[in-house]
Amino acid sequence: MTETLERRGMSMKVRAEAALTQSPQPVICLDQVTKCYGTVQALRGVSLRIEAGESVALLGPNGAGKTTAISLMLGLLRPSTGRVLLNGGDPTVPAVRRAARLGAMLQNARVIDLVRVRELLDVFRSYYAQSLPTDELLEIAQLREKQQSYTQHLSGGELQRLLFALALVGNPRLLFLDEPTAGMDVASRRRFLERIRELHRDGRTIVLTTHNLADVEGLSQRVIVLNEGRIVADGSSEEIRAMASGQFVSFLAEEQNDQLLAAIPGVLRIERQGPRVVLFTRDSDALLKDLQRHGIATPHLEIRRASLEEAFLALTRREEEQP
Ligand code: ATP
Repeated sequence: MTETLERRGMSMKVRAEAALTQSPQPVICLDQVTKCYGTVQALRGVSLRIEAGESVALLGPNGAGKTTAISLMLGLLRPSTGRVLLNGGDPTVPAVRRAARLGAMLQNARVIDLVRVRELLDVFRSYYAQSLPTDELLEIAQLREKQQSYTQHLSGGELQRLLFALALVGNPRLLFLDEPTAGMDVASRRRFLERIRELHRDGRTIVLTTHNLADVEGLSQRVIVLNEGRIVADGSSEEIRAMASGQFVSFLAEEQNDQLLAAIPGVLRIERQGPRVVLFTRDSDALLKDLQRHGIATPHLEIRRASLEEAFLALTRREEEQP
């Protein structure tokens, strides 16, 4: 029988649930939200609150439900069950969205061809009463040198930055960025993330999605990990990194020792693979010392660093095994 334990993820989840009873009106509130596309369950009972001024990353592998969550927050989709609130109102109502002063950079968004970068920004600025100046937008998006280029001549990364500028045209207080660094090279990515940091420092609320843990370092104060439509962890980027940088320690062990092994504090998860026991831990050195202290032998010992994907799985399997 496989037995699992994931204490740290649990404690963070408890904290997220406790947050549901905090300040009276968060910017965003999802309450037991599910979203189905036909038979596909993209979100399965997601509850979360995002407060004004927070910088939050939704992190998860492909298909985890990140875009669906953002689309619900933006009022582009309605939940199948549960409730989504934007500043206490229904985000599918245009007046609620306008009052929230939101900007969004969505995945696979397109811009019209046969128009120059600067002209396009000017057109979009004319839609807003409180727009940012075109030069400032060009500066933020590092597109000053491309302002006279036609949009169809931009590279993938430049196009991403133009979409970023378009998301900022109305000087939003709440900014949604869905996989914003996709297609950017390392240098552009670094500069781009610095711009997002500045926007947050200026007091904006930022919600971004990514499957790249490196994107959230120093950028998002809070990281919500989604997997298969569920929140599997909610904590600071340091906590999530520590969790996602775990190791697997495996060795030959009698099954009757599994209870004892599961009770060792450094063991976040325990799994059996035939005669071997596999322990998921954040610190294999400390765990080995603990095993020694408990007099547990570790024949045929193997230690392997967990990939981010495996760490996600280590966090999610427990949920699936619960009744
Ligand atoms: P990615 O990182 O690949 O963008 P994601 O975390 O944003 O993934 P979603 O795009 O929200 O995930 O998709 C969640 C699940 O819902 C996936 O299984 C996806 O195939 C499915 N899905 C999303 N949109 C639709 C749709 N319009 N019709 C049917 N299924 C959909």
